Amino acid sequence: MYQLKKKEGSARRGSFQTIHGEIQTPVFMNVGTIAAIKGAVSSMDLKEIGCQVELSNTYHLHLRPGDEVVRDMGGIHKFMNWDRPILTDSGGFQVFSLAKLRKISEEGVQFNSHIDGRKIFMGPKESMRIQSNLASTIAMAFDECIENPAEYSYTKQSIERTTRWLRVCRDEMDRLNRQEGTLNPHQMLFGINQGSTYAELRIEHMKQIREIGCEGYAIGGLAVGESEQEMYETIETVEPYMPEDKPRYLMGVGTPSNIIEAVARGVDFFDCVMPARNARHATLYSHQGVIHLLNKKYERDDRPIDEECGCPACRHYSRAYIRHLFKAKEMLAMRLCVLHNLYFYNQLMQDIRDHLDKGTFSSFRSEKSSLYRQKAE
Ligand SMILES: [Zn+2]
Repeated sequence: MYQLKKKEGSARRGSFQTIHGEIQTPVFMNVGTIAAIKGAVSSMDLKEIGCQVELSNTYHLHLRPGDEVVRDMGGIHKFMNWDRPILTDSGGFQVFSLAKLRKISEEGVQFNSHIDGRKIFMGPKESMRIQSNLASTIAMAFDECIENPAEYSYTKQSIERTTRWLRVCRDEMDRLNRQEGTLNPHQMLFGINQGSTYAELRIEHMKQIREIGCEGYAIGGLAVGESEQEMYETIETVEPYMPEDKPRYLMGVGTPSNIIEAVARGVDFFDCVMPARNARHATLYSHQGVIHLLNKKYERDDRPIDEECGCPACRHYSRAYIRHLFKAKEMLAMRLCVLHNLYFYNQLMQDIRDHLDKGTFSSFRSEKSSLYRQKAE
């Protein structure tokens, strides 16, 4: 359960107790889509770079290798050799963004697999059954992810359906958790707030879903093309209606600066593919700003990526060497850079927690929030 330890403005320092151990918040979850971090990063590496929570994708694991395979192998923790908390998303976002030819009904969505085109049906019940087979620590509710911008009237209908789906998710998970043979009978459910950028719909939806007792609440449907200002305004709009005693998760966000700004607005959990994706393209975060390692000026640069970083790449290798690996298309280039960027994010969260503990978060925010969005030098 969530324990709020300290507040500085709206920013919250807390901890969240799970069956797989305690999570210190605010926290960044490291994204391993198919129970693997892209860039040849293993679960053992995740421990070395300070990851607290791993995030995997229900949709992808359902298609391959299949959630029943994962269940038969003892659940996702055993399968990928990770004993700390795992959050699985519901598949909703992928169903609405990746899948072709989808058809929505009250029970869920009919769609074709993006891998082999076969017909699949997924709704709130199916999503809960898949996530129960995966046996993750935290399961996300199955919601409708609508396009941005969205019409007001469609958004209103959609949030009502997402609320009905959340009730189905809650009942189905409670049933599965009581069922004999369930791998993780302590699986927790996070509900998801939607409503596009319409303030009154966001508030209305949050009021509806907080009535359905969930162990945490997420803000979904952001970072999908709206401006940063609109994203921050939406958080400010909905945050006062989120329960104080439950964790708040901002889905799919964001840059280091976005995270600092969202923490300042009361968010506890984050995830984003950006640090790993950027790393695979040689775009790296540092305490001096953003570095594009393919730049010619790093050809003979003997310094580590970031002189203030303690990650395995920075402890052992130079910019010149890693740049050379990129130019030669060696896999090690991506691996070292993904390790660095994820370490940077995990360390950023540690810095945020330390400053919240000391009551110095607001000065940290004013110093770092803009620095981390600049180019280094
Ligand atoms: Zn590093």
